[in-house]
Amino acid sequence: MSTFQAPKGTYDLLPPDSATYLAVREAIAAPLKNSGYGYIETPGFENVELFARGVGESTDIVTKEMYAFETKGGDKLALRPEGTASVLRAALEANLHKAGNLPVKLWYSGSYYRYERPQKGRYRHFSQVGAEAIGAEDPALDAELIILADQAYRSLGLRNFRILLNSLGCRECRPVYRAALQDFLRGLDLDEDTRRRIEINPLRVLDDKRETVQKQLVGAPALSDYLCDACRAYHKEVRELLAAAGVAFEDDVKLVRGLDYYTRTTFEFVHDGLGSQSAVGGGGRYDGLSEMIGGPALPSVGWALGVDRTVLALEAEGIELDIPASTSVYAVPLGEEARRVLFGVVTELRRAGVATDFSYGGKGLKGAMKNANRSGARYALVAGERDLAEGVVQLKDMESGEQEPVVLDAVLETLRAKLG
Ligand code: AMP
Repeated sequence: MSTFQAPKGTYDLLPPDSATYLAVREAIAAPLKNSGYGYIETPGFENVELFARGVGESTDIVTKEMYAFETKGGDKLALRPEGTASVLRAALEANLHKAGNLPVKLWYSGSYYRYERPQKGRYRHFSQVGAEAIGAEDPALDAELIILADQAYRSLGLRNFRILLNSLGCRECRPVYRAALQDFLRGLDLDEDTRRRIEINPLRVLDDKRETVQKQLVGAPALSDYLCDACRAYHKEVRELLAAAGVAFEDDVKLVRGLDYYTRTTFEFVHDGLGSQSAVGGGGRYDGLSEMIGGPALPSVGWALGVDRTVLALEAEGIELDIPASTSVYAVPLGEEARRVLFGVVTELRRAGVATDFSYGGKGLKGAMKNANRSGARYALVAGERDLAEGVVQLKDMESGEQEPVVLDAVLETLRAKLG
């Protein structure tokens, strides 16, 4: 074993399992690409201030989980703990919102970093695919995003997930609720930290997972009773559009999520086979975020789905994705001359788009055929001195074991026909 190991809370993606991760990213991205979302990539780190302001000074993500550091040049940066603030920052910086085509619809895929206590489904480095629709207030847009996430999960074969839905109100009605909730919470028996949270972000107390806290929250005022008429109508429309699309959801008045920027529609996708880390994805509307980071008013909505947990959800449901063997043809040269000729054939096949691999390192027939087998290739091409003298290679069907000579010039054509 080497002296180095992957850092705590991280893991490596290795073949063949890594193919599942690629397929999951693809499956989540496909409905977005099909619905007008353009691909965006932002740096892995940003000015720490962007997250402090954008995600929220009082959130766990910012206060406890951020990898923040100072560079040699004195810049205060942080590894990105989430995608939305960066994507919005990039869109504003490039003036995408001024190009006259709102909403700006973007999707992304990448690594995110949170200094969390690692456990199954919770890592310090994880992977998300996300989508943001910037600059439009339209319930159909909220519904679109939820429908597309649902479509992505279903395309993977997932069934045991649920969509939890809530509205967090707006800057008109939430403050009234906030005050009522604070009144209620101040009367409870809570520890110092939680008391402080009541003053900074009381909604997040509702999210406290501890039994002792949850017990006391029975009878807490519900945000749904405080929504203003506009928020109520908006939420009703989102719910009706989802129902019309045949997307089932559950109302969850306690869903607040761990980020400060959400307004109105909030949702989470939970999977019932994942134990405590059951959220496979989540998102919502963030109408105030642009202004919070110094931009104009740009009501927006988005989500991020966790790739790691989606893979765990597949395992929990016993789903094996249908991933075709990466190699179709495996070439085995016997001898120097054959090596040169077959390598040429391999290059030709690859250029023609046939997935081909080659036996390197001058292995004998037995060892090389073992590797051909392991590669999952449907056909092997074997050539020795005698074959070359006759201008042929042996084409072996790895399933039936049958072998036939094929004229060198006809190898590509023959394989194409056989592979379909
Ligand atoms: P959040 O922004 O916290 O709602 O995260 C969105 C999604 O990213 C979650 O539903 C998870 O699937 C995934 N995620 C968040 N944090 C982690 C983590 N520490 N490890 C693995 N996946 C995570």
